[in-house]
Amino acid sequence: MEYYALKPPTGRPSWDYFLLYSASLVKRRYKGTFYFPGRTVLPVFIFNKKPDLDAFEKISRNDLSRSYKMICVKCGLCCVRNSGAFMFEHEYRKIVDQEGYPAVFPSKIFSIYKFGEVKVYFLGTERFGRCFFYDSSRGCTLRPAFKPIICIIQFCTLFAKKNGKIFLKVAVKNREGGASPVYKPVNHIEYNRIVEFLRAKVKKFTYRYR
Ligand code: SF4
Ligand code: SF4
Repeated sequence: MEYYALKPPTGRPSWDYFLLYSASLVKRRYKGTFYFPGRTVLPVFIFNKKPDLDAFEKISRNDLSRSYKMICVKCGLCCVRNSGAFMFEHEYRKIVDQEGYPAVFPSKIFSIYKFGEVKVYFLGTERFGRCFFYDSSRGCTLRPAFKPIICIIQFCTLFAKKNGKIFLKVAVKNREGGASPVYKPVNHIEYNRIVEFLRAKVKKFTYRYR
């Protein structure tokens, strides 16, 4: 088994959707999203044979051991406002056919590298761009197997873990080629306090703007 990271996006839709589409086809191989110090935040996958090297690059175990694994505390902040979440056609078909969602989402066809035309469905159809699948009491209502790739691999990077310790992002450092998070360790009391604060903030927002 070897570790491979999804290559970084460039801001060009043809390339960035190509990367995400490639990742959406191998969701089950996802291991986590990691910050590689001095570099960037990248989703990592495990493969038992060489993947498409246009989309993935090999990561050494040494690099992985020095990285920070992103943690999602499921506060919902990135779902309730300008979620920007989307699904590819095959992800969308799965929830319509297997979960029975009658939902019709706005969509757009993109011409992407290698795969040609792909249809993308945008999920932020509710007030303030809230995701259609977000429920103010239950959070994301999609079962993990049905979550779109973008929601699986993308993190706000606020919390991370490394060697059994939890870290909080306290700053962002600008460097050539992008910005890097600066992490400091936090104890469980601080961690729980911040998580509770975030969840309460999101709850207040969703109840206020139902
Ligand atoms: S804002 Fe961060 S912690 Fe909250 S749900 Fe999104 S990714 Fe998870
Ligand atoms: S699909 Fe779920 S995780 Fe993704 S934006 Fe919607 S509510 Fe959030």
